[in-house]
Amino acid sequence: MIDSHCHLDPGVYGGDDGVDAVVARARAAGVSRMLAVGSGYGFASAQRALDVARRHPEVRCSVGLHPHDAKDATEAALAELFAMSAAPEVLALGEMGLDFHYDSSPRDEQRAAFRAQLRAARELNLPVIIHDRETEGETLRILDEERAWSTGVLYHCYTGSAAQMAEIVARGGYISIPGIVTFKNAGDMHEVARATPADRLLIETDSPFLTPVPHRGKRNEPAFVAFTLAKVAELRGVTPAALDGITTENTLRFFRWT
Ligand SMILES: [Zn+2]
Ligand SMILES: [Zn+2]
Repeated sequence: MIDSHCHLDPGVYGGDDGVDAVVARARAAGVSRMLAVGSGYGFASAQRALDVARRHPEVRCSVGLHPHDAKDATEAALAELFAMSAAPEVLALGEMGLDFHYDSSPRDEQRAAFRAQLRAARELNLPVIIHDRETEGETLRILDEERAWSTGVLYHCYTGSAAQMAEIVARGGYISIPGIVTFKNAGDMHEVARATPADRLLIETDSPFLTPVPHRGKRNEPAFVAFTLAKVAELRGVTPAALDGITTENTLRFFRWT
């Protein structure tokens, strides 16, 4: 199996040893590859994700600035981030985008940091991982305005409508389904999990958050991606093994993961 989105941050898992134990448990559970997202815990998350990827051949990473941290964006700090993407372990920029639910950074600063990262991704020819929460279509509009689709766009932890999923897919984008799909109250996510075209569908844990049933309430980790895989397979009427073949192939293609 493959986990297309996890935060293997030592600050969360009890240092480097804790992260290494999480990776070992994932491998034991049959998760052979993990994409460690270098974004979400300030600018330092990028280097920490890269460190994990360098220690583990089954881990690759992204580097980016989360919308929560957009208030810390300076031109110099962003330039340093983009320079890090030259490392062979870095497969994408992100996660980046807009979050109008928490509004942890002023919206104008979120927009500016998002656009700067999209422009860099085009220049560097890297795919982007998108975080989009309660933005009423603005994220999609910015992706259009920045002509971001050609290098690859992945909506991670997709919780939007099936109609918006169709718009993303029509533009060439990809959709990643998190463990929320296993919750009783999964909203539109069951419909999205069924309707997303097979060649655009990924799955993720978004560890350490959004732990799937039956471990809900515990800290999430990549080993638990199996529960999300099983639920999405059930919704689509295929076996977990068949769906795993599809989501693994899609993840490798999207990230140009070799
Ligand atoms: Zn996110
Ligand atoms: Zn995330």
